[in-house]
Amino acid sequence: AIPLVIAINTSLAARNGMLVRDRIAMEQARNLDTVVFDKTGTLTEGEQGVVDIATVDGVTEEEAFTLAASVEADSEHMIAQAIREAADERGISRLTATDFEALKGRGVRATVDGAALRAAGLSRGDEPRDGERVHVGGPNLLSELEGDVPAALEQFADRAGENAQTVVYLVREGTPVAAFALADVIRDQSYQVVDALHELGLEVAMLTGDSEDVARAVADDLGIDTVFAEVLPEDKDAKVTELRERGDMVAMVGDGVNDAPALTRADIGIAIGSGTDVAVQSADIILVQNNPMDVVRLVTLSRASYRKMQ
Ligand code: ADP
Ligand code: MG
Repeated sequence: AIPLVIAINTSLAARNGMLVRDRIAMEQARNLDTVVFDKTGTLTEGEQGVVDIATVDGVTEEEAFTLAASVEADSEHMIAQAIREAADERGISRLTATDFEALKGRGVRATVDGAALRAAGLSRGDEPRDGERVHVGGPNLLSELEGDVPAALEQFADRAGENAQTVVYLVREGTPVAAFALADVIRDQSYQVVDALHELGLEVAMLTGDSEDVARAVADDLGIDTVFAEVLPEDKDAKVTELRERGDMVAMVGDGVNDAPALTRADIGIAIGSGTDVAVQSADIILVQNNPMDVVRLVTLSRASYRKMQ
């Protein structure tokens, strides 16, 4: 039989917009030391728009948007959506591309058709080629490709980073030729959540695949204690383990496919609202109202129920 207190507890939770998949997690929430939040789509709205672009000499903005939108044609990532939207707004048409590949937590790659490039006047070099290998992605992609970043793009990225803007690069045949700055908005509730968790005596951490600069800017703004940035999807769970090895009881809050292993690894995995099926299936608790403040309610509810039990 289900102990009465826990039964009351979970139905109370349901009334507060929490779906409890693991009752023990509900009970344990009172003992949490640290709450780790995914950044994009959890602490921020996750809807990004392209706000600025930089190109190297000899590459026009139109060319950069054409190539980037062509390579991002098949990606569901919100960065891809933002780039396609920005290109559409400029009336830029896409070129034929093949061999799309999503590089999780890094970016995308594809081969842009050589004939299409020539027809658009965008082919480089003298030799007609079958196609060109084009990437779009962030710092994790650049370190993997080991290409040098031109000074103009590096300066652009530094400035964007200081403003908490996410930067992704357009890379032709291994050479970065343009950079796009995207702005995201911190959710109003995120400020309240961090303050409220601190008042409850908990530590707050953030985990993201985005750059150090952006992560720092968002964390400073919110007053977050610990930041893990430029973390690849397959390494997110290791960061949760790091915190647990300090002896902390850890909750992880995330919305994406990438967050699933970290949700599983945490003492309490919390999927938030618009979360993907994978995130939801990996979670102990689902915040159906997509409000991060429900994390605070979870802790207070758990503490209140426990006190009643004594
Ligand atoms: P987060 O950890 O913040 O939820 P992701 O793991 O989805 O973010 O992505 C991490 C980083 O990988 C992004 O900030 C971006 O630099 C890069 N990235 C991922 N997908 C794409 C894409 N489709 N286009 C460009 N960059 C991408
Ligand atoms: Mg996310």
